[in-house]
Amino acid sequence: MARPLTLYDNYARELRAFAPLHPQGEVGLYTCGPTVYDYQHIGNFRTFLFEDVLKRVLEWNGFSVRHVMNITDVGHLTSDADTGEDKMEKGARRTGKTAWEIAQLYTDAFLVDMALLNIEPPAVLCRATDHIGEQIDFIADIEKNGFAYRTTDGIYFDTAKQKDYGYLARLDVKGLEAGKRVEVGEKRHATDFALWKFSPPGERRQMEWDSPWGRGFPGWHIECSAMAQKYLGDYFDIHCGGEDHIPVHHTNEIAQTEARVGTRLANFWLHGYFLLLNDAKMAKSAGEFLRLASLVDRGYDPLAYRYLCLTAHYRGQMNFTWDALDAAATALDRMRNGIHALREAGTAPADAALVERFTDEVNDDLNLARALAIAWEALRGNLPPAVKRATLLEFDRVLGLGLAAWVPRADPVPDDVQANADARLAARREKNWAEADRLRGELHAAGWEMEDRAEGYTLKRRPGP
Ligand code: AMP
Ligand code: ZN
Repeated sequence: MARPLTLYDNYARELRAFAPLHPQGEVGLYTCGPTVYDYQHIGNFRTFLFEDVLKRVLEWNGFSVRHVMNITDVGHLTSDADTGEDKMEKGARRTGKTAWEIAQLYTDAFLVDMALLNIEPPAVLCRATDHIGEQIDFIADIEKNGFAYRTTDGIYFDTAKQKDYGYLARLDVKGLEAGKRVEVGEKRHATDFALWKFSPPGERRQMEWDSPWGRGFPGWHIECSAMAQKYLGDYFDIHCGGEDHIPVHHTNEIAQTEARVGTRLANFWLHGYFLLLNDAKMAKSAGEFLRLASLVDRGYDPLAYRYLCLTAHYRGQMNFTWDALDAAATALDRMRNGIHALREAGTAPADAALVERFTDEVNDDLNLARALAIAWEALRGNLPPAVKRATLLEFDRVLGLGLAAWVPRADPVPDDVQANADARLAARREKNWAEADRLRGELHAAGWEMEDRAEGYTLKRRPGP
């Protein structure tokens, strides 16, 4: 018997056996989606990939999943602490398009990249601006229940009214209050946050709506409380986002939902940890960032990035390097070629022992790096070819590397060239430079160029004579 699915719940701060709230129904999964004022960078996609793998692992375990993702197209200010400009309005100024146009443009770009990464589309993809009525109703109830107050620039949530405010992040609320140096304006407490912001007097925003409190727009957090409740109910199974959501966004989503319906929104809280670039967080607001297109422009297959993300546990930060991406691309190519070579092997059931070990690993809080190692064991071991193929394709339901669909490009590498290149790699590793040079000469003569990578190599046809 394989081990049951265990996930690290950041609310409890421990590994917990996963049990669905509605054993006969669907598992409710809400993941915070993109803020569509710019392209998503590969850091954002690390989090979306982790969430996709989580969903696939739930399905691997026989659950059917109802996945809801929001599109933040209003209300996310340039500072998470309710100050600064609305990111959408700022993006509109930067590009000369309307806020509505850029929301559409970057939503479309996001969906294209999601598909390139083989991320399954959510069952519900909901925009904040399509749910203004739901958000207003939500705020009205929070106010009725005594958790809201008015300032000159908006309606705020009074975090002091909630005994366990900040529990998810283990926030030191008293310490924050005592040490508050930031400008809190008319806010009563450092941790209070906006539910509804008024349009600045005399200014017409591109995105604004009437409300019982005045013309304006919703705060960033209320959209997720409102849409999660609409599509998944008062209390559902799993809520995810990136690690930056722990202290502010998710903390405030929980506060709002507790204030309206008395639940803490979700049973499990899982977070994807950051992708770093040169040891600093990759961020849209920080200027330089890599898009999926930046990798494609350099000749990488998007799924090489997916493979790379599978090699690092979601609960640790990962530093992006081109060498690591090279290694992932080489490994993916090998796996694809390995599977392709078995295409005529016929059908057979997957190997039960390997499937069980694979399940043990993915069920151990999504240990995909070890699950991948088992996939390699299957490919390299001496199982009958049909069993090998069936086992790998079965694993690919979780890995999502598109192994069944892959076909080599029209220009396959002949076996003797491949053998030659492997021999040269071995010579290079042994620092046998003379032999490495000799083999390179042979490859050239056969019309191939070998490019060395940190882990392996790539082979290309040499330009014609
Ligand atoms: P945003 O578009 O800023 O709302 O972010 C979309 C998702 O990406 C959220 O779940 C963020 O927590 C996550 N995220 C942002 N930056 C990174 C990063 N550098 N690495 C991993 N995830 C990130
Ligand atoms: Zn959210």
